[in-house]
Amino acid sequence: MQERYSVILKRKLTKIFAALLALVLVTGGGAVSAAPAASTPPDWIKHADGIKDDPEQQEKNEELEKWREEKKNVKVPILLYHHITNDTFTTEESISHISPDDFRLHMTAIKVHYNPISLRKYIEYVKCDDGSVTIPENPIVVTFDDGYSSNYEIAYPILKQLEIPATIFVVTDTVGEQSSGGRVHYSHFTWEQAREMESSGLIEIQSHTAGHIGMTTVDAGEQIRQLRKSKYEIEKNLGHKCDMIAYPYGDYDESVKQEARDSGYSVQLLVDDKTTENDYDVNLPSEGVENLTRMTIAGSMGNVNVIEIIRKTVNKKIIPQ
Ligand SMILES: [Zn+2]
Repeated sequence: MQERYSVILKRKLTKIFAALLALVLVTGGGAVSAAPAASTPPDWIKHADGIKDDPEQQEKNEELEKWREEKKNVKVPILLYHHITNDTFTTEESISHISPDDFRLHMTAIKVHYNPISLRKYIEYVKCDDGSVTIPENPIVVTFDDGYSSNYEIAYPILKQLEIPATIFVVTDTVGEQSSGGRVHYSHFTWEQAREMESSGLIEIQSHTAGHIGMTTVDAGEQIRQLRKSKYEIEKNLGHKCDMIAYPYGDYDESVKQEARDSGYSVQLLVDDKTTENDYDVNLPSEGVENLTRMTIAGSMGNVNVIEIIRKTVNKKIIPQ
């Protein structure tokens, strides 16, 4: 029995000793980690505080926030013109025709009331997220479809004089074709003239397909040919990337859009030539660059009226919150 008590006593003493040792270690450990907290914080913490309080950085953050807020409220009308001619034209033709005098009046009016920017600039602005691309207040974009000689002969000098940038969407199979040849109704400017206009830095040429066909009226093989042939011709003849497509007659569907994406078009423009004034719409940066809408400007609109119509369209556009 004696022996058994001494074993129990030994075990108890061992436990007490172990507990004491653990206590010493724990409080000792605590003392080690607690000591520096009472003194000055390490340099890296002070450094991080410095970044947070850096007034320059704070100002940059505020500017970026302001830029993002402003971007949410930007509305951009994209105007669409076609042929410019002094020939008399029917009411139906007036949807896509305008006289040189009226065209000059339109351009002068938009220069007074808006700030014309290039379509490329708008695309860069939409894609930008770091505040590095800015656009002026009341922006507006001018575009042309088809690539008529009148764009080169009449519109280009006016645009140059007023310093208004424009994007022209050409039908590549008919570039340089003259109306006297019978195949086209109106003459189309040449690649040489296209290069001359682009060298001004004001004009950019992009695709309106190879043969001006309604894209949903042909099979997938022909759709791909229309997209890729026109892209190839523009890149070969003008030496720059062709990444924008404007669909003839505004005719497209989801599979056409996917083929366009697969063919290297990151920007897609829609239009309905039969659009009435009430259907006009403007673009929001939040809507991206694959559904850009345009306002077909008719020759029958006076210069005051065109500004009114643009203003009305801008005002009615609701920005989703
Ligand atoms: Zn067209």
